[in-house]
Amino acid sequence: MRNKIIIGNWKMNLSLADAQDLTFKLKSSIKVERPAEITVCPPSVYLLTISNILKDTPHIKTGAQNMFYKEEGAYTGEVSPKMLKDLHIEMVIIGHSERRQYFNESDKDVNLKIKAALKFGLTPVFCVGEDLKIREKGEAESQVKNQVLEGIKDLNSADIEKLIIAYEPVWAIGTGKICSGEDANKIIKMIRSTIKEKSTPQISETVRILYGGSVKSDNFGEHIKYPDIDGGLVGGASLNFEEFMKLIDLASNAHSQVQSHSV
Ligand code: PEP
Repeated sequence: MRNKIIIGNWKMNLSLADAQDLTFKLKSSIKVERPAEITVCPPSVYLLTISNILKDTPHIKTGAQNMFYKEEGAYTGEVSPKMLKDLHIEMVIIGHSERRQYFNESDKDVNLKIKAALKFGLTPVFCVGEDLKIREKGEAESQVKNQVLEGIKDLNSADIEKLIIAYEPVWAIGTGKICSGEDANKIIKMIRSTIKEKSTPQISETVRILYGGSVKSDNFGEHIKYPDIDGGLVGGASLNFEEFMKLIDLASNAHSQVQSHSV
């Protein structure tokens, strides 16, 4: 059975003091492992501080929001997978739509980053999703499928199994517009069958696929009840302690329900 997972993407938000405060609050409220896995992704300049606070709390992981695909060298301003490993970071978001949109990251870059992350034992949280124009043209499924295929190009099944994929329709990110649970589940099912084509049926049932896009505690209950939606990649709502805790509870309850049905 796949564990549910909630990943908080803090983006370029919070002062260092606020980031520490939020992390201490999470740490003191989540003393033991929850049915849903939890990761927070602070800005890269805070990674060391936050991962140090959480180092004796292995059930709350620290992830990075981005990395370059080179190991080291003259790449001013970039952070390498090797450096993330040095900080004991276990997860890295790759191909977020804001990286694609504002920093011109291509599918090819995303593929190189996924390969580099895997080489260093980092779990890629591989983001895909269509923009509004594509959705209105009825091409969401074909574009997302293409992004998945380009992102996993040349990966073997063992590597594909290590991915977490996040379906994040661009038009729903930070806009307050939400993709319905039914629509998100339809695309996520398609992603799962694409993974099946490129690996094995067993692996396609193992890979976790999340929904992201204006997730809040008052809308996520509708998504997390779908068995193919394994959790959420959460932006704005992860900056608010109470909201983030409610999302963790929703995912944990959904996990416990699936578990009780499967015994
Ligand atoms: C995100 O950062 O991936 C995201 C989905 O943001 P938001 O929840 O704010 O829409």
